[in-house]
Amino acid sequence: MTEQILDKIKHLLVQAEQSPVPLSEELIEQFGEDCKKAIRKQFKERRDTSFRIRMSGIGKPLCQLQMEKSGAKREAQPYNNKLRFIFGDMIEAITMLLLKASGTVVDSEQKQVTRKSKYFESGLNGTYDVEIDGKIYDIKSASDWAFKNKFSMGFEAVVEKDVFGYKSQGYLYADTENKKFGGWIVVNKSTGEMCIVSLPRDDTKHKKEALQLADDNIKALMENKPFERCFDDVEEKYRSKLTGNRVLDSVCGFCSFKQDCWGNKIEHLPQQVFDDEGKPRSKNPRYYWYTHVAHREKNNDKEK
Ligand code: SF4
Repeated sequence: MTEQILDKIKHLLVQAEQSPVPLSEELIEQFGEDCKKAIRKQFKERRDTSFRIRMSGIGKPLCQLQMEKSGAKREAQPYNNKLRFIFGDMIEAITMLLLKASGTVVDSEQKQVTRKSKYFESGLNGTYDVEIDGKIYDIKSASDWAFKNKFSMGFEAVVEKDVFGYKSQGYLYADTENKKFGGWIVVNKSTGEMCIVSLPRDDTKHKKEALQLADDNIKALMENKPFERCFDDVEEKYRSKLTGNRVLDSVCGFCSFKQDCWGNKIEHLPQQVFDDEGKPRSKNPRYYWYTHVAHREKNNDKEK
């Protein structure tokens, strides 16, 4: 089924390159409305920054959720963030158009679901993207890197370091509706390529883990479990060799709370790898978050 969905879209796109295709005015109008909604949401609505436990985020690392809940200050987001969100909304809108225009029957879309929880009277809420053939799918827009290195590599690669909690999100939507989770329909924002990440034939273990993680995180948050970092700093490598320095784990590097979390233990420095004459090995070194710089210790020792 999954392959058929993608094949139909590819066929439509190839066809449209060659000659006009019959696209209903209703679908075009719907796409326009979805884009308008995205612009209104991003520019005219006040962004609700209060902490809420939702299906879309409850599978994230507990330390990030605890930071959010505590009201820790997020790092200022770069100006392009707004555009990234708009692109995401528009990609979702065009994906829905392509699904329908290519002949896939959409059973339901953008449906709010509520799951009973002993922790909240109102239940745990979420809104799933689309239901096809009785299965719930989530639509994701991905960077070129994430598309090539994660989504195109299949389910195991997506869930291996699932820092956005995609696995719990998908299974929560589906299980709440007593349906199966179908996977992720993914669009590469740079190239326009698409893929559908489907689930292993027997996904019992994954489903159990995903729902358990959500429950554990909710419990920890509601019971105010003391904060603990989920990630340690790691040894830095340069050309596969250890440098003696230590840097933040990549998850922490992208985390908006790293300043609050690591305080003055971290420094954002150009890569601290030098040749025998003490010159940087790289002409245009990338910046990393360091927790320990080995050559400084050596210099300090010499001075003593
Ligand atoms: S910086 Fe790392 S350890 Fe700290 S909250 Fe973020 S992800 Fe967790």
